[in-house]
Amino acid sequence: MADEWKKESPKLAVVVPCYNEEAVIGETLTELLDVIKRLKSSSAIDEGSFIYCVDDGSRDRTWDCISDAHSGDATVKGLKLAANKGHQNALLAGLLSVRDSVDCIISVDADLQDDINSIVDMIEKFSEGYDIVYGVRKKRAADSVFKHYSAALFYKMMHALGVKIIYNHADFRLISRRVVDSLSTFGEVNLFLRGIIPLIGFRAASIFYERKARKAGKTKYPLKKMLSFAWDGVTSFSVAPLRLVTAVGAIIFLATLAMSAWALYSKIVGLVLPGWTSTVLPIYFIGGIQVMCIGIIGEYLGKIYMEVKARPRYIKDMELF
Ligand code: UDP
Ligand code: MG
Repeated sequence: MADEWKKESPKLAVVVPCYNEEAVIGETLTELLDVIKRLKSSSAIDEGSFIYCVDDGSRDRTWDCISDAHSGDATVKGLKLAANKGHQNALLAGLLSVRDSVDCIISVDADLQDDINSIVDMIEKFSEGYDIVYGVRKKRAADSVFKHYSAALFYKMMHALGVKIIYNHADFRLISRRVVDSLSTFGEVNLFLRGIIPLIGFRAASIFYERKARKAGKTKYPLKKMLSFAWDGVTSFSVAPLRLVTAVGAIIFLATLAMSAWALYSKIVGLVLPGWTSTVLPIYFIGGIQVMCIGIIGEYLGKIYMEVKARPRYIKDMELF
């Protein structure tokens, strides 16, 4: 049992989710191939190690670029999904597709924002016996002021809600094969890998790097997608909003008791002031609270609905292997 999964020169797959990345994918692959070659020549990784690009239903020439790279060097392999399923699902498709043929997998974005030279350090940590190596950004110099603060708020909120995510870590990480095997047993449709990986356990380490600006192309995470991603993160891992509803309900109930006592007292003492405000304000107040509560419950109901359907998280179109 001991450390049989640990290998001298582990076989590595680098999984790269790509969505409309024609502007940058060529350069990314050239740089990645360079790192892989260096690692192979120093015997840090197995000769059969490879890069696995997952084309997440791109509408530009991304798949052609991947095919061209594959023809030039079979170290580059690829998977084309039949439709755009989002970053997390594309990543999962890659992880699950390669897990049987490798010892460890590194996931990295297609835009070279993460420092791919850190791959060397990740492999070193893996050889030391760590199953998970998180790539953690040192600072967010390349991000806009808004992204910087919104991200910090997001991490704080997640922690306050009890979700164990690693501060300033996105999806640049190494995981061992047994972590991916464990991951495959999580059947959820609303996938938030940053929350799930720390839940799995095993020995984990972090390496630190400078996050750069996108090499080319545009971000695929506009504000709307970012907010929906953060909200998914909260509602997929925490029932705190539901508890909040209960707490608000309880407080209102107590307040209503006090109000009733006061009304009764006023009537008995003869302080009858039949005002419009005192009638209408509670209606607005209670109405607002009720709608908010129904909304939050609806959010979870929607989640349950999606999970119960258990639709496939991705559909494969073709593979270059
Ligand atoms: N991505 C994807 N599917 C999507 C959106 C994004 O596979 O629907 C990929 C994208 O190609 C990139 C990674 O996810 O490799 C992260 O996206 P991006 O760099 O646009 O996000 P940001 O770094 O701006 O948060
Ligand atoms: Mg990016």
